Amino acid sequence: MSDDDPRRDIPRTDDLLRSPRLTGPLATLGTRRVKEAVVASQQRARTGLITPDEVLDDVLAHLPRRATSLRPVINATGVVVHTNIGRAPLSDAAREALLTASGYVDVELDLASGARTQRGGGILDVLAESAGAESALGVNNGAAAVVLATTALAAGREVIVSRGEMVEIGDGFRLPDLVVSTGARLREVGTTNRTHLADYRAAVGPGTGCILKVHPSNFRVEGFTAAVGVGELAGLGVPVVVDIGSGLLRPDPALPDEPDAATTLTAGADLVTASGDKLLGGPQAGIILGRSDLVGLLRRHPLARALRVDKLTLAALEATLTGPEAPVSRMRRLGPDDLRARTERLAAATGGKVVNSVGRVGGGGAPGLDLPGVAVSLDADLAPLLRTGDPAVLARVEHGRCLVDLRCVDEADDSTVRDAVLGALRHIAATPVP
Ligand SMILES: *Cc1c(COP(=O)(O)O)cnc(C)c1O
Repeated sequence: MSDDDPRRDIPRTDDLLRSPRLTGPLATLGTRRVKEAVVASQQRARTGLITPDEVLDDVLAHLPRRATSLRPVINATGVVVHTNIGRAPLSDAAREALLTASGYVDVELDLASGARTQRGGGILDVLAESAGAESALGVNNGAAAVVLATTALAAGREVIVSRGEMVEIGDGFRLPDLVVSTGARLREVGTTNRTHLADYRAAVGPGTGCILKVHPSNFRVEGFTAAVGVGELAGLGVPVVVDIGSGLLRPDPALPDEPDAATTLTAGADLVTASGDKLLGGPQAGIILGRSDLVGLLRRHPLARALRVDKLTLAALEATLTGPEAPVSRMRRLGPDDLRARTERLAAATGGKVVNSVGRVGGGGAPGLDLPGVAVSLDADLAPLLRTGDPAVLARVEHGRCLVDLRCVDEADDSTVRDAVLGALRHIAATPVP
């Protein structure tokens, strides 16, 4: 390299890392990430893409925006519990609880006596009380709750399941396969459309571990059908486990077909299992509610240790139960009139058209239920551009149109959505038509 080669002026790595402008990024992203960006920018300077003076600005422009590669998504689909984008968004209270729990916390310690306690005991009491249950246990997710219940009650024995409830929930996840994986034998009773009490009664015997009743969630059998209620099963003398799925703890008149934990327990279920991040609107978790002796049996089973819930989840779950209404509950209650003014503003700013839009509960909850609303209808070409922005805006493509539904968009994000749409429109206008 000759003396007047501008590449001699490329700032050295150590000098760049000492720059005050990189102090913040070093603290939030760590040395490795920042160093990678520094090396890449120096390389761009070496090849003449940028001048040595521009290296620091270039580093800053290319740094990742956050320490996680997970990209925030604004949910403009109108689907409240959307599995692919992380199901339930947490309330501000739950987010704050997460932050508290991220340090050292008394999750298994009684600070007054210094003695070890049951993990998250107080929080589980709150959970039990919220559903009117004797006792509660938290695990990693809804599937783990079913696994733990069937393992502890029926490993090496039979789990009786109606053929009408042999369901696949989503993404190839089949309840019967899960049950068999625990070492229990599946004892199918009845037919796809009709199962009677006599079918269950004939199957119950000394080899029975439990009866498992599964809410079919995202699937319905219509017409000539019959199923046996929890109350009737409770009289058969074996434990009845009911997987209600969605995690509604108390009945909700707006969701008449959705089972809830309190009603199911009152009807006679010995254990109820559910997810924490569907209709309950909390963090990913599996919830087990019911008889104290059975919950204790599950808690003491060796598998419980492998499925146990973490402190972050416990904290967020408690804040969801005791704090302000969960975002998913608020969002599913919004009607066209609640959404119209915001939607009209967005339509006026973007040249879109206000149309009727039907939202969904999603996540396998209340499958037949329409959530009437409104949306801004735009050119379908906008959808991929919106999806690949940062933050990503996920719209719904329907009948060849891109629908931006504000039901699940925080009002504070309306201007971000507007700017994303305007940016995408500019991009399309600037792209030559072939
Ligand atoms: C969603 C669901 C599950 C699985 O719960 P995850 O929390 O996703 O593990 C199990 N059973 C039913 C009925 C469900 O709806």
